[in-house]
Amino acid sequence: MAKLRFTALEELLNREPKKSEGTRMPSSDYYGEMVFDRPKMKKYLSPEAFVHVMESIEKGTRIDRKMADQIALGMKAWAMENGASHYTHWFHPLTDGTAEKHDAFLTFGEFGTMVESFSGSLLVQQEPDASSFPSGGIRNTFEARGYTAWDVSSPAFIIGSTLCIPTIFVSYTGHALDYKFPLLKALHAVDKAAVDVCQYFDKNVTKVNSNLGWEQEYFLIDEALYHARPDLMLTGRTLMGHSSAKDQQLDDHYFGSIPTRVIAFMEDFEKEAYRLGIPVKTRHNEVAPNQFEVAPIFEETNLANDHNQLIMDVMKRVARQHKFRILFHEKPFKGVNGSGKHNNWSLSTNTGVNLLSPGKNPKGNLQFLTFLVNVLKAVHDNQDVLLGSIMSASNAHRLGANEAPPSIISIFLGSQISAMLDELETRVPDKKMTPDEKTALKLDIGKIPEILLDNTDRNRTSPFAFTGNRFEFRAVGSAANCASAMISLNTAMAGQLKEFKKEVDALIDKGVKKDEAIFQMIKEYIKQSKNIRFDGDGYSQDWVEEAARRGLSNISSVPQAIKTYLSPKSKNLFVDNGVFTDVEIEARTEVEMEKFTKKIQIESRVLGDLALNHIVPTAVQYMNTLIENVQGLKDVFGENSDYQDLAGDRLDLIKKISFHIKNIKNKTHDMVEARKVANKLEDMTEMAEMYEQKVFPYLDDIRYHIDKLELTVDNAIWPLPKYRELLFAR
Ligand code: ADP
Ligand code: MG
Repeated sequence: MAKLRFTALEELLNREPKKSEGTRMPSSDYYGEMVFDRPKMKKYLSPEAFVHVMESIEKGTRIDRKMADQIALGMKAWAMENGASHYTHWFHPLTDGTAEKHDAFLTFGEFGTMVESFSGSLLVQQEPDASSFPSGGIRNTFEARGYTAWDVSSPAFIIGSTLCIPTIFVSYTGHALDYKFPLLKALHAVDKAAVDVCQYFDKNVTKVNSNLGWEQEYFLIDEALYHARPDLMLTGRTLMGHSSAKDQQLDDHYFGSIPTRVIAFMEDFEKEAYRLGIPVKTRHNEVAPNQFEVAPIFEETNLANDHNQLIMDVMKRVARQHKFRILFHEKPFKGVNGSGKHNNWSLSTNTGVNLLSPGKNPKGNLQFLTFLVNVLKAVHDNQDVLLGSIMSASNAHRLGANEAPPSIISIFLGSQISAMLDELETRVPDKKMTPDEKTALKLDIGKIPEILLDNTDRNRTSPFAFTGNRFEFRAVGSAANCASAMISLNTAMAGQLKEFKKEVDALIDKGVKKDEAIFQMIKEYIKQSKNIRFDGDGYSQDWVEEAARRGLSNISSVPQAIKTYLSPKSKNLFVDNGVFTDVEIEARTEVEMEKFTKKIQIESRVLGDLALNHIVPTAVQYMNTLIENVQGLKDVFGENSDYQDLAGDRLDLIKKISFHIKNIKNKTHDMVEARKVANKLEDMTEMAEMYEQKVFPYLDDIRYHIDKLELTVDNAIWPLPKYRELLFAR
């Protein structure tokens, strides 16, 4: 096994970096060439079909079957011209990643000839055998059917020789089995609720979009080293490994010059991204060695999320071409920073107004304040669901580890906005405002853009930060499907805006003037949501204590976070806004519990294997060398004081190694026993809890002894690539 490590290192030394398949063409020349976007629809569809699709995209109306046939024909023609021979319904099951099953266009034609065909019914709906996707018990095994149905709002695209059609995935009974379907419902809910509130300010607003700009962090590892680490291959993270003498202490990686091999990889995947219409914009080194980030220009949330899932796929593929493996795991290495996926989020109107950006006049600013304060209230009231939406077995390593937001949700606003809200709270009187008071207030509100201009506050320790024209949800994990966080956030906002509208309307009905009613509710919400606001150091112990005093949730247990969905309050939120049914919530919780359990189970098995088959034999081998040496000394010097003096340190070493071996063996045995007990539990939640409490702790416990051995055992026989090799080789 040590051989594999050294062969890998040698392979790495001799690596010829792959050159980027650079093109001199400006990116805009081929941007979107693999996407069946509007200009291509216009070209390939009949005018009638084109209008029909546009209407369906804008109004969410159904695609008529006859039209579907026409659209399929146009889509097929375009796809075949671009080298596609197959098509697939592309969807987001509740596992990590996306799913696809390719079918050839090829079919029997007349007189035994073969023809390419693609019909409206194949475009609009498919019936994949869904039995191997998680359903949380929604789908009985005897009813394995599931449906995928075309999401017209996200354009089809070609990868390789396959036309990919973004779809939702539902069970035979109509329950969502994916991320996209509920996301679309949440986006619809927030659209409707936000439009209703916008009507107070501008009657021309008929549509509000939720926007998402994700920042994706990742690690790159050389392929040869990756293959010499079974833990990385099977679990996505290192289950053992002593920290490198140097890692990120010197802060010399962040924003540093990008290594040549990495830049070539970036250029190649970015090119693919552009061809797929993914507007990637920034690239840079991240804090940890071999850690990097990519971010696009933000887009409408559903499309942005499709693009995030798609680019993760593209990056995986292109990384292989460059003999890298990409790690999206939130915490591949202990002791250095993990990876996140900041979700920059905002709402904007069909009239071109960003509702989270200060307006151009007092009225626009009042609208901005309205939305800002409603975000505060939504997040305050729904902290649990937001935490639940981002927790996973892998993200749990990162949250609360003083490198990423804590497992407490709070909002950073920056000193100026905070001061402004505090002022509003005192200035809006409880009784009716005098005309003078109102004028003065509006005038002051008119000044918001000026103060914001130089509000460059940044607080990287906050899980949910206002950054001038958007909020940045930073607690999302790098491996996650953004949809989970976006479903919760947009639904919470939808519920909150509906509530706001109801309360303002009630005041208006009582005879309060509209703008005054809005002021009153803003004041009320500023008061009610105050506890969620925190501009200080989110990593500090002080904050943990302060948050507890404020009554904020601090949930670091994954099963407990998942359970937040089951509270009556959360259920009401999702059900009332038409995002999930009761059954879907129960099912999803079950799926999440199962995912968590399985991940810990796999890690525990892999660690057990490596501990007993790789580490212990290596340690024994080294110990035997020491014993031989000690025996030799004894033979030469006899059992006199010289021998004691000469062999003393090795005797100690032998004892030390024995101690660690014994611990590794015993603890691995106990871990297996703990698994057996947990596996017998029928209830998925109980099993997940048992895995978290009784199995998971062994992972660190056993690792401790292995890492000690790594420092002791002869480097020449250590079987697994070490941290310094994994993190610095490139
Ligand atoms: P930073 O590292 O300063 O947070 P980045 O450029 O890495 O900035 O990423 C910021 C992300 O936020 C980008 O995807 C950007 O397009 C996105 N973004 C900018 N404005 C908005 C907005 N109004 N709504 C949503 N996302 C936005
Ligand atoms: Mg960034």
